[in-house]
Amino acid sequence: MSDSGKSGHGLKLGVILCKWCHRVIDEMDTEKVVVYYLECDREDCAKDRDSRLEVG
Ligand SMILES: [Zn+2]
Repeated sequence: MSDSGKSGHGLKLGVILCKWCHRVIDEMDTEKVVVYYLECDREDCAKDRDSRLEVG
């Protein structure tokens, strides 16, 4: 019997957000709620980041 889903509940508590645009980059199976902040690789995000620095 092939299982299409992961074993147990499919809820993932760990989430990786972009620290610039707060988009969800990835999700992880963790025992408790964990939020990591990384940089996404979207061009518009980097562009927005640069313009924000210019305004600074
Ligand atoms: Zn981003």
